[in-house]
Amino acid sequence: FKVKMDDFELFEELGKGNYGTVQKVVHKPTGVTMALKEIRLELDDSKLKTIITELDILHRATSPYIIDFYGAFFIESCVYYCMEFMDGGSLDYLAGTDIPEDVLAKVTRCMVEGLKFLKDELKIMHRDVKPTNVLLNMKGYVKLCDFGVSGQLDRSLAKTNIGCQSYMAPERIKGESQGATTSYTASSDVWSLGLSIIEAAIGHYPYPPETYSNVFAQLTAIVHGDPPTLPDQYSDLAKDFVGQCLRKQAHTRPNYKQLLAHPWLESVKDKDVDVAGWVARAHEYRKTHPKIQAPALA
Ligand code: ATP
Ligand code: MG
Repeated sequence: FKVKMDDFELFEELGKGNYGTVQKVVHKPTGVTMALKEIRLELDDSKLKTIITELDILHRATSPYIIDFYGAFFIESCVYYCMEFMDGGSLDYLAGTDIPEDVLAKVTRCMVEGLKFLKDELKIMHRDVKPTNVLLNMKGYVKLCDFGVSGQLDRSLAKTNIGCQSYMAPERIKGESQGATTSYTASSDVWSLGLSIIEAAIGHYPYPPETYSNVFAQLTAIVHGDPPTLPDQYSDLAKDFVGQCLRKQAHTRPNYKQLLAHPWLESVKDKDVDVAGWVARAHEYRKTHPKIQAPALA
């Protein structure tokens, strides 16, 4: 079916990103609760139409590890993108609430399954793996959103702000600083996965802003410094997995098949891990310990 603005009853704002806001809505004709993302773009109608057409391939993207897509439309210069509402929120919000290791492994396994699905079935890289783009629900499902499905949308967003809290791999940071746009491959998503796992465990971006006086120093640390590691309380298997994701040389990072076969992810493959229980506990914890945003670097 086709979605349009008149069909929605609007509820609270779920979050704000660099390019717009996400709002909880109810699709009146079906009664389904959805998340409506508004992306502000200054584009002509033909480019906006291209984006809507390209987003259409999302109708084929059915996987338990990928957010369901319900449709997109544009009004004036805004693209509206309608997707499955996830009542657990994003991984950055839940991060740092004492995540048990088997839950961390299960969440990681779901992310790898999602990335593998995008690559194998849709022939795309994610390009924006980070905790805010990993959504969870109270049933314990973990799903990816905001992947690079539309070339026109990606170009229009012109990701020039590689600044603070960059989840980009060293090779991507180097490439972009030299003006290249194709200096990276799927293994760059594997780096971003590694950083996201550490953030889920420690509760903040792994290159802490208080350590660096500016964005340049932070990016220099990503490109030239040692990669971050999981804290001591995690098992050697977990540390080994993250270490492999965060290898500085892109071609030495494992592919998705190899990551799924890693003993850390193998250990939760058929295990009934209580992700839902952790999401519920994390929400309780956040009621008394609200998430504090890290200060932005200049
Ligand atoms: P960026 O603009 O760099 O992509 P972002 O991912 O934080 O950053 P948005 O994609 O606009 O920005 O999302 C903003 C917030 O909205 C997310 O952090 C998440 O908490 C919430 N959100 C997004 N999609 C959904 C959804 N489908 N269900 C529930 N909450 C969502
Ligand atoms: Mg997002």
